[in-house]
Amino acid sequence: MNEINNLRREINKIDKELIDFLIKRKTFSDRIISAKKSQAISVYDKKRELEIITSLKNEFIGKINPALIEGVLREILFYSKSEYYKLNNYYSNDLNGLLDKSPILIAGPCTIESEEQLSGIAAHLFNNGIRLLRGGAFKPRTSPFSFQGLEEEGLKIMKSVAEKNNMFAVTEFLDSRQLETYYDYADVLQIGSRNMFSYGFLKQVGKKTAVDKKPVLLKRGFNATLNEFLLSAQYIINEGNPNVILCLRGIRTFEQIDSQMRNTPDLASILELKELTDLKIIFDPSHACGDAKFVVPTAVAALGLGADGLIIETHTNPQDAVTDGKQSIEPAELERVIDYINRNY
Ligand code: PEP
Ligand code: MN
Repeated sequence: MNEINNLRREINKIDKELIDFLIKRKTFSDRIISAKKSQAISVYDKKRELEIITSLKNEFIGKINPALIEGVLREILFYSKSEYYKLNNYYSNDLNGLLDKSPILIAGPCTIESEEQLSGIAAHLFNNGIRLLRGGAFKPRTSPFSFQGLEEEGLKIMKSVAEKNNMFAVTEFLDSRQLETYYDYADVLQIGSRNMFSYGFLKQVGKKTAVDKKPVLLKRGFNATLNEFLLSAQYIINEGNPNVILCLRGIRTFEQIDSQMRNTPDLASILELKELTDLKIIFDPSHACGDAKFVVPTAVAALGLGADGLIIETHTNPQDAVTDGKQSIEPAELERVIDYINRNY
């Protein structure tokens, strides 16, 4: 027993030294970050981080499991930049606190396709400081012959991937049966554009979420006026849940006769809604534009107009995406939005 106690004392000493080293390391990385900021150089340097990890893995080959080196270094590299990321609190598990911080950034695929697909995307997102993972298990498709979502299996994948990556699940329910059956799978409950006018459903959502005040992300009906949109939010609020986030996602106008865009991005509505409500307003450039090439500039414009955040369809292989691949951006493109945020907030 004595021997164990002695060894434990040694371990405790080493743990303290490790923490001391982390603190010391942080003072240097802080200095690098401020130097980079003053020279307008991007703080996140993916290439250099990979070089650090690879070179240490090689140096200690045979002495320690390389996966451990990689895991520990990734945590340390995150930690060293955690204040620089304005998007989130990495180590906070308080969802409402996270949603209170501007800008809110939600990303992920249109549809949950498989565990591998969602895990791959989530890893990229978390690496970029994103904690809110979107993905549909029930898809509101125009055609009943189109893929409708993985349903329960998709929700299970979402839950496990979100938990493993320390992220929150943002997912849509289409009707009250899904709401009742699968409630706990959603950390943020999405009500889609097509359901903005389903007043009975909105009331049920309000009643159900009034108990735990689960955040509800309500998307603007693609043919809804601003007043109709606000009144739909009020249906939820009146049942006892004030925790509603409004999401603009483009509207249908005469432009769709010959515009390349899937919808008309309702960017100016951000300005008006800001005057009309205290609710958070986020923008969805993916459904608004319908084409990946327009997504990043539209996202940046939305933030410039005062949007409290963005929801962006992101996929590691947009060309193979089961739904909305055309409008899905790759993680590298999303980094351009993140870079804008980091420089401007
Ligand atoms: C979605 O975000 O997955 C979606 C279907 O969007 P909307 O309801 O805005 O069409
Ligand atoms: Mn979509």
